[in-house]
Amino acid sequence: MTEQTARPCPICKRPEDARLRPFCSKRCADVDLSRWLKGSYAIPAEEAVPDVIEDDQ
Ligand SMILES: [Zn+2]
Repeated sequence: MTEQTARPCPICKRPEDARLRPFCSKRCADVDLSRWLKGSYAIPAEEAVPDVIEDDQ
């Protein structure tokens, strides 16, 4: 079977990597993932420190 449907990477428009389809690189995959996540729900810029324990002794 020979696939000749080489689509360009949606991030940088380079030819896709067969193992990272439809992206050309892991980096582009990460870029797309982060975009997708930011579009789905807001990620807080700075996360508050969960547990602040003050010892007064
Ligand atoms: Zn790319």
